Amino acid sequence: MKVPSFRYSRMLDLSRPITPCDHRFVHYRTSVVEVDEPPSDRWYITTSLEMGGHAGTHVEAPLHAIENGTGIIDLNLERFFGEAIVLDLSEEAQGKALSPEQLQRAAAPGGGVRPGDITFFRFDWDKRGGELPYPSTDALRWLVEQGIKLLGIDTPGLDIPGDRSLPNHHLLFTNGIPLIESLDHLDQLQRPRVYVFAQPLPAAETDAIPLRVLAFEG
Ligand SMILES: [Zn+2]
Repeated sequence: MKVPSFRYSRMLDLSRPITPCDHRFVHYRTSVVEVDEPPSDRWYITTSLEMGGHAGTHVEAPLHAIENGTGIIDLNLERFFGEAIVLDLSEEAQGKALSPEQLQRAAAPGGGVRPGDITFFRFDWDKRGGELPYPSTDALRWLVEQGIKLLGIDTPGLDIPGDRSLPNHHLLFTNGIPLIESLDHLDQLQRPRVYVFAQPLPAAETDAIPLRVLAFEG
């Protein structure tokens, strides 16, 4: 019987640490629950976690912006591993919607976007500050038409500033594409194509949940 082999030279963690925080959406608190009959002479604790689904690096399911949409527990797990193309958009203008041509140029070093790709946008926004960069809805439509299965960004939002109809979220989610927000360390990747493995916990009744995102370079 042939066993699948997996070789790589470098692994990078693209997730942000989740640390105690009181923010309404991304809060995170832990406490130790009293145990009725603790074992004697042994250290033994049970921690309770309380957190926002959008804490740290997290994935959003269609339910985030579509009533009765797919929630986290029903996402297709095959969307969360495979080849990813990293679009380096760190030099592109801030505070202005990215055009389809800008995405296409950024995809060229990775051989273009292919059907079934995971796609990551690298903005390095947390290092540069200023206004949040974002794609125009036309640019995102072009990307969706290439047949991507998952989008990840290193910013906390994808939509057009001030447009409360959330056209970009809608476009992704009506096409069944989950969105990972607040990735980290994309600037440390050395190749435009990497193998990605990430999985959300099978949590019921939530639109979003933190996840660990690993990138492997061959
Ligand atoms: Zn979010």
